[in-house]
Amino acid sequence: KKYVYLFEEGRADMKDLLGGKGANLAEMTNIGLPVPQGIIITTEACKEFYTEGRNFPPGMEDQVREKMKVLEERAGKKFGDTDNPLLVSVRSGAPISMPGMMDTVLNLGLNDKTVQGLARATGNPRFAMDCYRRFLNMFGDVVLDIEHHKFERILESQKEKRGVTYDNQLETEDLQVVVEEYKKLIEREIKKPFPQEPMDQLFMAIYAVFNSWNNDRAIVYRKINKIPDSLGTAVNVQLMVFGNMGNDCGTGVAFTRNPSTGENKLYGEYLINAQGEDVVAGIRTPQPIATLKTEMPDIYKQFEDICQLLEKHYRNMQDIEFTIERGKLYMLQTRTGKRTTQAAIKIAVEMMHQGLISKEEAITRIEPAQLDQLLHRRIDPNAKLDVIAKGLPASPGAACGKVVFDSDEAEKLGDEGEKLILVRTETTPDDIHGIVAAQGVLTSRGGMTSHAAVVARGMGKPCVCGCEALRIDYEADLFTVGQLVFKKGDIISIDGSTGQVIQGQVPMIDPELSDEFRELLEWADSVRTLGVRANADNPEDSAKAREFGAEGIGLTRTEHMFMAQDRLPIVQEMILSTTYEERQIALDKLLPMQQGDFYGILKAMESLPVTIRLLDPPLHEFLPNAEELSVEITRLKLTGGSQEEIKEKEDLLRKVRALSEFNPMLGHRGCRLGITFPEVYAMQARAIFQAAAQLTAEGYHVIPEVEIPLVIEVNELAYLREMVVKVAGEVMAATGVKFEYTVGTMIEVPRAALLADQVAGEAEFFSFGTNDLTQTTLGFSRDDAEGKFMADYLNKKILKDNPFVVLDRQGVGKLMKMAVELGRKTKPDLLIGICGEHGGEPSSIEFCHMIGLNFVSCSPFRVPIARLAAAQAAI
Ligand code: ADP
Ligand code: MG
Ligand code: MG
Repeated sequence: KKYVYLFEEGRADMKDLLGGKGANLAEMTNIGLPVPQGIIITTEACKEFYTEGRNFPPGMEDQVREKMKVLEERAGKKFGDTDNPLLVSVRSGAPISMPGMMDTVLNLGLNDKTVQGLARATGNPRFAMDCYRRFLNMFGDVVLDIEHHKFERILESQKEKRGVTYDNQLETEDLQVVVEEYKKLIEREIKKPFPQEPMDQLFMAIYAVFNSWNNDRAIVYRKINKIPDSLGTAVNVQLMVFGNMGNDCGTGVAFTRNPSTGENKLYGEYLINAQGEDVVAGIRTPQPIATLKTEMPDIYKQFEDICQLLEKHYRNMQDIEFTIERGKLYMLQTRTGKRTTQAAIKIAVEMMHQGLISKEEAITRIEPAQLDQLLHRRIDPNAKLDVIAKGLPASPGAACGKVVFDSDEAEKLGDEGEKLILVRTETTPDDIHGIVAAQGVLTSRGGMTSHAAVVARGMGKPCVCGCEALRIDYEADLFTVGQLVFKKGDIISIDGSTGQVIQGQVPMIDPELSDEFRELLEWADSVRTLGVRANADNPEDSAKAREFGAEGIGLTRTEHMFMAQDRLPIVQEMILSTTYEERQIALDKLLPMQQGDFYGILKAMESLPVTIRLLDPPLHEFLPNAEELSVEITRLKLTGGSQEEIKEKEDLLRKVRALSEFNPMLGHRGCRLGITFPEVYAMQARAIFQAAAQLTAEGYHVIPEVEIPLVIEVNELAYLREMVVKVAGEVMAATGVKFEYTVGTMIEVPRAALLADQVAGEAEFFSFGTNDLTQTTLGFSRDDAEGKFMADYLNKKILKDNPFVVLDRQGVGKLMKMAVELGRKTKPDLLIGICGEHGGEPSSIEFCHMIGLNFVSCSPFRVPIARLAAAQAAI
C-alpha cells in the first residue's frame, strides 16, 4: 500500500487522503510555484496507526526512508550530514483545517554536530544556533510533551541577563547557553538525553502528529465543529527554507483580499529576519504587507502575481504563508481564507463580475444563516464596552435605552419617544405592547426559545435572555448585578448577537444592505422558484418586509392587535359578555379599530397578497391572571375597599376561572372560537373587507386572503367560509365596490393534513402552521418540551435537531407532503405556503422547495435569508 507521496504526486482534490495542507502544497508544486520539496504521509496511514494500537502500519517507515532519499538527492544535501545537513519541517494537516489544534516542528535534523555543519555551510553561526534552540523548543513541546513555558522561562532569563527585549537581539553565545539549558531541561523531563539521531527525530515527530489527532483539544474542536473523528491527519515532511538568515530574509502571511471587508487588495503581515511562527506568535510587531513593496519590490511583485494566480486557480480568496530566504520567495501554504459575512458577499459578487465564478456559485458560497449579522443594528466594533453581564444571544442586533420594568409603562414612555430596554424576569403574552414599545428586551430567565426570545426575533428586536446574573426587584424598580445597581431610567445597552449586557450608551451602526448584497439577492431571485413572504402584524413591519424583498404577507396575526393597551378593555368586555347583544356592542367598538389595522397593512402591501388569520389564541390570554386577581381582592378586603369594587372583581375572577382550561393548547381556540362565537369572526371579516373596499375605492389594488386557523374538518371550514363570503357580499353591496379576496385555511393539526383532499374543496389556499403542526404531530407542547426535556433528547441524540427549529422532515414533513399531494389532487392550482418559524430556517426552506410549496413566510428580518436559501434549494 502506498502510504507516502511526493508533493508532485498529489493534487488539490486529494484532501481526504493527503490532508488540506498537503493537497494544496502538491497543487502549488504542480502549477509550478516555488514550493520547497516534500513528502506527505497519508491520512490512511494515520487511521491504520490507530487500528494497529498506535503503531505505524507495516511498510510505512520504509516508504518514508525511500522518499527521504529522493528529497536528499534533489536537495543535494543529506539528512544528518555534519557538513551540510538537510533540515525539514514536520507539519500536520487534516482533511478539514483545524487551526491551532495540532502542531508543527521546524528545523528537524539538527543535533550537536549538524548544527556546526549548518553554521559552517551558511557561514552564519548565530543563525544555526537560533534554528537549534527553536527546534529543541518545538520538539520538546510537541513531541516530548514538555510544557512550553519551561522553555520560555529559560529564554526569558537569558534575555534578562543580557538586558534585551527581543529574541533577535541575543548573540550566538547567548543562544548557545539557551541550547545547553534546553537540553538539560529535556533530559530532566524525559530522563534520557535529547535524541540526536535525525531519523529517530523524524519518526518521533510523525508519531507525535498522528497522536495529536486524538489530543483533548483536537477532540473537543471536532465535536464543536461537527468534524468526524474518523478522518485522521496526514503528515507533511518538507525541506526547510529560512526566513531567519538575515535582513534579506523574512516570513509572512497574507490574504489575497481583505477578509474583514472583502476589499480586493492584498492584506497581510510579515517580519524580516524571522521564522515560521514568529508572525502569528506576536514576538515582534509585524509590518503590513504594503511595506514589502518598498523594502523588496521584486519579491513583492512576484508575490502579488502568485497571489493572483492562486486566486484564479482556486477561484476563491486564499490565505497564504510564505518565506523569503536570501532574496528568494517560497510558498509554504495556501487555503481558502476565512472571512466575515460582509466580505464573503463582496468577494462572491466581485468574483462573478471578474468571470471567476458563475452566479449560481456566488449564491451557494454564502451561508444564509450568516446574513443575520448584517440585517440588524449592531454595536460599533471599535467601541470600548463596559460589559456587566452575559446572557443568551436570543435575537441579534444591538439596542440601547432606559431601563423599564413594566410593559404598560414602557408603552407610555415609548409613546413619549423614549428609547427603552424592557427588563423582566421573563415575558408573557401580556407584555407584547411593552416589547413593541422597547428597543430591546432583557430577561433573567428563559432560553433561546422563551416567549421573549421568540417574540423579539419575530419583531426583529434585539433580545438577551436567561441572564442569570441579574437580580430584578420589581418592588424597588431596580436590578442588581453583583454589587452594581441599576435603577429604572438608567441607561444600558444589550447585544443580542453576543448576549452581552453593557452599562451606558454604546455607539451603534446601522445595518448596511450593501450594493453587493442587493445584487446577490437579485441573483437569488432570478434563480429561485419558491416565493418569499413575511409575517407581519402592522404597517411598519409590512413596509420593512417589502423593503427586504417580501412578495406578500404570509401571516398577519390579528390577536396582536387585540393586545394594545387601549383595546384590551374592549376585548375583555367582548369576552366577558354573557349575551350576544352585549358582545355585539363590544364588537362594534372593535370593528373600526381592526379596519384601521387592515387598512394600514393592505395599503403598505398594495398589489401584493396579504394573508390575514382570524382570531386564534385561547381567550383567557386576554384576561387578567386569576392569581393576581385574587390577591387584589384580598387586598381590597383587608384595606376596606368598596363593596361594589370587590364584587366587580369577584365577578371577573369567576369568569376568568370559568374560561381557564386544562390544556389551552388543545382547548377553545382557533376556528373553534369562530364556531362558538361566529359574530367575532364576522366582525373581523367585515373589518378586512371594509378596508379592502375603502382602498379599492381610493385606487389601490389589494389582495386580502382570509385565513381560518386550526381547522380539523372540512365542515368547520365550510361553515365559516360561508359566513365570510356572506359578509363580503354584504360589504360589496353596501359600498358598491368590488374587490378581490380568497378564503383558505391553516394546516396545523394532523387530521387536516390527512383529509387535505376534502379540506381543499373549501379552501383556495393552504398555509402550514408548522409551529402547531409540530406540537400536534409530536404531542410535544413547545414550552414544556423546550423548558424540560428537549435538551435531553438532543444530548442523548434521540432527536438530531430541535423540531421546533429545524422542520422534522420525517414526521411533520411527511404529513406536509401528503397534504400537498392530496390538496392538489382536488385543486391542482391550490396555493400552498408555510408560516411557522421554520419558514425562515434554511434547511426547512429547502424541504419546502422539494415538496412544491408556492411560498415560505418568515419574519421581515429573515426575508433576505429566505430568498438566498430558496435560491440555493433551486440550484
Ligand atoms: P499551522 O498549520 O499551525 O499553520 P504550519 O505547518 O503551517 O502550521 O507551520 C507553522 C509555521 O511554520 C508557518 O508559519 C509555516 O509557514 C512555517 N513553516 C512550515 N514549514 C516550513 C518550512 N519547510 N520552511 C519554513 N517555514 C516553514
Ligand atoms: Mg500554516
Ligand atoms: Mg397555530
